[in-house]
Amino acid sequence: MSAAPSRLARLRERLDALEVDALLVTAPANRRWLSGFTGSAGVLLVSTEAARIATDGRYHEQARLQASAFELVAAPLRRIESFAADLLAGLGGRAVGIEAAHLTVAEHAEWAEAIDALDPSDRPRLKPLRDAIEPLRAVKDAGELEAITRAVRLGDEAFAHAAAQLRPGVSERELAWEVQRYALEHGAQRLSFETIVAAGPHGSMAHARPRDVAVEAGQGVVMDLGVVVDGYCSDLTRTVFAGEPDERFARVYDAVLTAQTMAVERIEAGMSGAEAHAIAATVLAEAGCGEAFTHGLGHGVGLEVHEAPRLSADSGDVLADGHVVTVEPGAYFPGWGGVRIEDQCVMEDGRLRVLSRAPKLDLQVGPGVGVAS
Ligand code: ZN
Ligand code: ZN
Repeated sequence: MSAAPSRLARLRERLDALEVDALLVTAPANRRWLSGFTGSAGVLLVSTEAARIATDGRYHEQARLQASAFELVAAPLRRIESFAADLLAGLGGRAVGIEAAHLTVAEHAEWAEAIDALDPSDRPRLKPLRDAIEPLRAVKDAGELEAITRAVRLGDEAFAHAAAQLRPGVSERELAWEVQRYALEHGAQRLSFETIVAAGPHGSMAHARPRDVAVEAGQGVVMDLGVVVDGYCSDLTRTVFAGEPDERFARVYDAVLTAQTMAVERIEAGMSGAEAHAIAATVLAEAGCGEAFTHGLGHGVGLEVHEAPRLSADSGDVLADGHVVTVEPGAYFPGWGGVRIEDQCVMEDGRLRVLSRAPKLDLQVGPGVGVAS
């Protein structure tokens, strides 16, 4: 989809608050979100008056088509020196923001050098910024939400396909491959990240990589997967079980599911990421799993699988309509395994609407048995 001109307008309105006259955009996802350009190399310059894209000869035609709101600046060489004067024209003495979280030290040195080589009256001042574009990008428009919904739907299907192959003897790698094969054969551009399939004790590592190890009867299996459709990511976790879940698994699963459901129901626009996290953390602590919840509750998802806003104990990000976030509490016990349940949700009219439809386990849990034993 082409980037709406309103994104450019929204960034221009923000330049004052960022205390800059212009912004150099180098992060690929920000570059794409702002301009529509999907190529692998290019730099944007946005000021109140100008919108320029510098890219090399491989991408001139593509940039003209995709980034039609931007004036093309030919970058004959990879060296920043070769296009800095044209890209920064008219900004002598002005403050130009750079994306401090995305520019390497080497690139920063190259920009500084290229600016030093300009006429003194043409030299802008570089100002490192964090989160210049990310808070804008966190609010999804209708077209983005449509792409995300299609990615979520395909992720649900890929999970269902792989989960149907779950039986004692199938390996983690085989299950991960079934996810990948199904997703790529049914329209995914790629996976959002390397699929996680972690059986039994392996499931206590939140970011376990699939092994050539067979799932055994009586093991829980954490499956965390995502696909990319039209540039937008999905992210889904389900914990399944090979055979009949035992009492302890049922307890832990019930605690995580309760935390997940409560968080989805109670998270509201205006809350901080830390307040959202605390909802699930409190439920898990009351169930005796407080220490076992070792990561943040969730994160934004869009062009990148991890983006703003963050839902975690130390996040001051404020949740708002249009945010697409995951809600993914987990409980991990080294030597035993883990349970994580993750849905992707969109904030609408101040509340979360769950996009993920992959089924969860329906376990009957009796009263009175602790989870940690
Ligand atoms: Zn995930
Ligand atoms: Zn996630």
